[in-house]
Amino acid sequence: MTNASEYAKKVQEKIHQRSNHEPEFLQAIDEFLPTIIPFLENHPEYQEHNILSLITEPERVIQFRVPWMDDNGNWQVNRGYRIQFNSALGPYKGGLRFHPSVNLSVLKFLAFEQIFKNALTGLPIGGGKGGSDFDPKGKSDAEIMHFCQSFMTELAKYIGPNQDIPAGDIGVGKREIGYLFGTYKRIKQYDAGVLTGKPLEFWGSQGRKEATGYGAVYFAKHLLADLSETLENKKAIVSGSGNVAIYCIEKLYQLGAKPVTCSDSNGFIYDKAGIDLELLKEIKEVRRERLTEYVKVRPNAQYIEGSVWNFDVEAELAFPCATQNEINLDSAKRLVANGIRVVAEGANMPSSLEAADCFVEAGVYYCPGKAANAGGVAVSALEMSQNSQRLQWETEEVDERLDGIMKHIYQNCRDTAIEHGAKDNLMLGANIAGFARVAEAMLIQGLV
Ligand code: NDP
Repeated sequence: MTNASEYAKKVQEKIHQRSNHEPEFLQAIDEFLPTIIPFLENHPEYQEHNILSLITEPERVIQFRVPWMDDNGNWQVNRGYRIQFNSALGPYKGGLRFHPSVNLSVLKFLAFEQIFKNALTGLPIGGGKGGSDFDPKGKSDAEIMHFCQSFMTELAKYIGPNQDIPAGDIGVGKREIGYLFGTYKRIKQYDAGVLTGKPLEFWGSQGRKEATGYGAVYFAKHLLADLSETLENKKAIVSGSGNVAIYCIEKLYQLGAKPVTCSDSNGFIYDKAGIDLELLKEIKEVRRERLTEYVKVRPNAQYIEGSVWNFDVEAELAFPCATQNEINLDSAKRLVANGIRVVAEGANMPSSLEAADCFVEAGVYYCPGKAANAGGVAVSALEMSQNSQRLQWETEEVDERLDGIMKHIYQNCRDTAIEHGAKDNLMLGANIAGFARVAEAMLIQGLV
């Protein structure tokens, strides 16, 4: 038998050959496979059963046409997808993304990450992801509704409360989940548990909207507690201004930190006095406007075009909460030079492979998305539990459980890293801890 390192390399090369047109998926694979070699060395059974080849191949990829009519009566068409990647631990679970950049490669990377993220929560959920290249920006409410109805008309054939349970992601929030749910109900039946991230009015969970952003901050809180520190008075750079970023900022304030930036795909706000959270919520959640509106109300803040990660500001904490690959190597070096000590990823794969390596080498506590942003899916799984019970828990109960889950995830990543001789390498810890759980279940279930 070849050694574990050669085995992982062979699998990696084969994936590159077969998926060479899927750069984001390959990036996720290239980040993942090398880190689990120390674990494979101690567990030859996974190599004997070629688990790496199985686990990197989606169980099912569904692609479909989404026809819809715009407000001018024109016939439009987009691509819809659902990747059902791995069901070893439970029904497929993962969000839906509506964004023009969505394609098979992006969704495969997201679904692959989701498998291990979901495993880290300790809850019984497999990994999946879906979405469309539909661009919700600038669309009327009626167009959004028509699109969601058409999308779900097809997706409904493949999902169900014990089969595959989508949620939101970029471009899919409470409004879209409402329309998607309405159509599912009309076609199939009233199954509260078929989607999560539902509005509270029809069996959503308290705390779900806040869960991803809050969870990323809780992760950092537990990490800092290990260093006998708190978030108190620490400055934070936050990117994004959507669901994850807003509630990351909220929790940072609650725990005494000072977030000074937020961003969208055009530019960013630098507010030295600290981001005005109520104003941000009003602009993004109520008025659904762009960030340029912010400086009209707060003239002392700056709106700067371009990426927040190309900006020099001294801070100890960074919470990238926008999208994949927003931090490249140059930005990572800049962050290190500006005194960053903790990078906790609210977004999925916001750091390029080189940026992540740079953080690890520089001794920055790099908290990868699959661990740090697992709070969202964890509360989604709690939403499923509540739906099964026909109950809605109190906010405090959900929040307490979220904090506990994030503590457990952090400690699991920390301890797994130490066990494999890579203290403080939370990326390695997260990958091995997630993989161990899924791989064990796969072996027990046989070749399926
Ligand atoms: P939203 O749609 O609510 O917000 C996305 C934010 O990111 C917006 O500010 C958006 O700006 C910005 N953004 C999107 N694409 C780009 C881009 N290409 N370049 C720069 N900025 C961009 O999404 P979420 O907050 O829900 O998701 C943010 C990230 O968190 C994603 O990576 C998602 O996968 C991840 N995540 C989300 C979870 C959730 O529960 N929602 C759970 C776990 C992870 P603009 O308005 O200009 O597009």
